Amino acid sequence: MENIKKDIEELENKLKNYAYEYYTLDNPTISDYEYDVMYKRLLKYYDDYPELLSNNSITRQVGYSISKKFEKYTHQYSMYSLDNVFSIDELYEFDNRINKEVDNYSYVVEPKIDGLAISLTYENGKLITGATRGNGLVGEDVTNNVKTITDIPLVLSENIDITIRGEIYLKRSQFNKINDDLKANNQNTFVNARNAAAGTLRQLDSKVVAKRKLSAFFYNVANYQELNIRTHYDSLLYLKKLGFVVNDQIKQAKNINEISSIINDIENNRDINDYDIDGAVIKINQFDVQEKLGFTTKYPKFAIAYKFVAEQLETKLLDIEYTVGRTGKVTPNAILEPIFISGSTVSRATLHNYDFIKTLDIRLNDIVIIHKAGEIIPEVVSVVNEKRAIDSKKLEFIKECPICHAPLIKIDDSVDYYCSNKECPAIIVEGLVHFASRNAMNIVGVSISSIKEFYKLGWLKKFSDFYKLEDYKQDIINLKGYGEQSYLNIISSINNSKDVSLDRLLFGLGIRFLGAKSARLICKKFNDINEIINAKYDDFITINEIGDKIATSLIDYFSDKENIDEINKLILLGVNTKTNNINLTKDSYFANKNIVLTGTLEKYKRKELQSILESLNANVVSSVSKNTDIIIYGKEAGSKLSKGQQLNVYLMDENELLNILDKELE
Ligand SMILES: [Zn+2]
Repeated sequence: MENIKKDIEELENKLKNYAYEYYTLDNPTISDYEYDVMYKRLLKYYDDYPELLSNNSITRQVGYSISKKFEKYTHQYSMYSLDNVFSIDELYEFDNRINKEVDNYSYVVEPKIDGLAISLTYENGKLITGATRGNGLVGEDVTNNVKTITDIPLVLSENIDITIRGEIYLKRSQFNKINDDLKANNQNTFVNARNAAAGTLRQLDSKVVAKRKLSAFFYNVANYQELNIRTHYDSLLYLKKLGFVVNDQIKQAKNINEISSIINDIENNRDINDYDIDGAVIKINQFDVQEKLGFTTKYPKFAIAYKFVAEQLETKLLDIEYTVGRTGKVTPNAILEPIFISGSTVSRATLHNYDFIKTLDIRLNDIVIIHKAGEIIPEVVSVVNEKRAIDSKKLEFIKECPICHAPLIKIDDSVDYYCSNKECPAIIVEGLVHFASRNAMNIVGVSISSIKEFYKLGWLKKFSDFYKLEDYKQDIINLKGYGEQSYLNIISSINNSKDVSLDRLLFGLGIRFLGAKSARLICKKFNDINEIINAKYDDFITINEIGDKIATSLIDYFSDKENIDEINKLILLGVNTKTNNINLTKDSYFANKNIVLTGTLEKYKRKELQSILESLNANVVSSVSKNTDIIIYGKEAGSKLSKGQQLNVYLMDENELLNILDKELE
């Protein structure tokens, strides 16, 4: 609980500071997305621990301090801000909440322009005031500046009293021009178009404002009741008629599925527009329904902002940890200050190799940008040079294996370093883990931690040792955490593995470059392992899809006497080495299908599953389209799954996948 209190306090302080930078200084130091994610985390805490919520909380405050540069303006109709969501799932929840309270409603979806909100008041068709949102109740009077914006009519085509809301923004092209000019005059440039627009509108000199050429879109009539307008969409048509610029991507929608397809279009157009957007706004169309729903303490219940998910966030690189893989390859990993990104907390990310570190000049204590595309392992993509700390330290790559201290070497022209010791414990253990893995020998009864433990105890060093574990029956039963039943499970799983098809054994041997698919292709050509051992380079290279690298690697592997001895031991211990039990003629369920993987699966790593599916002649592709046949999804599946739903793609969960694979692979 103390930790939670501390965390909440920290979030409150940070958010208040960021809000001040954003609203008052027009100079944010973090991305909107980061802000939103932190804000959500805070809200989540208060959901779980409502007793910790105080009146001082930023979540209770509607707005922020107002600068003293301009006259205050009290809004006749308060300007609300919107709650955010980041997924279609949350939109369904939003709709469920509405559905519980009201009937007969529909929606309007609009792009969320990344500018700053403005309220304009016209009397008798003449522009009287323009004001910023401020804290929603009181804003700043920026009428003189607003009058310089050509998108804003000074006189309307009808002599009416109307209060409208819209977004002031800078066109991207104009933003670039302004920054070029500032640069040419050795002045500070703007971080982005939104800050430039905000900074410009709040210039005291209207001549500067006029020169910078702001633009505006309008999306709301505050006094619709007086004007007898019934729906939001009608109000937009009316705004257009009066001479205001209304965004042309605004559409009506009946339900969340239609909304998600419109959002998709908006996101796809994102790069084509000459203006920045950061999401979409979804509003109930019928004003009477809006009124029935009303407001929470902070937000309207009838509208919500859907924010596009940024996949990149900043955090601090605290340390480097090196891991040694099955091939001996040494991978540097960044140890990060934990950060919440794309649905989970990340504290490690891959740095790939030393060349990568050098090229990007990544140093200890640097602020780095982390990328996580939903399901992929997070990676460091760049360094924020402006935020480099004085205590940043250049990274020297290690010279010795972190496990066995043998010197590291480079193989061929690879950028990677490898442990030079064939007997390196890391290499041996990773090799055993690979041999036992699900799509190799499928010895699922022996966990990775058991493999490590048996290795340490000296019972398991080579593949053949799995089949001799019975010699340690009593020792295993007596081991802490084991017992009779565990022992039986282990042995039965090992015995079952004797009958798996030869391609799995070939893959399990861990021959460099040889994946599950290639192993299967090779087994189609030969009758047993001896034929494969005795095959020539040309026999391999003539197999479709087997290239020089794999062929050379196979020849190397089988010319090593130790490897052959080990294979012979496996044969003597009763492991199947013939290809006759591979049902290669049968057409796989997955054959020729376009498959997309998304989310986290429990039993498979993504790469493993991809290689299995490819060995079954499936095409594994990365993005969802109408040509996708199947989406295999795991936990925390994101936009791909929702896109699949829209496109009526067949959705397969892990249980169904395992059932089919069990049949296919036996
Ligand atoms: Zn080593």
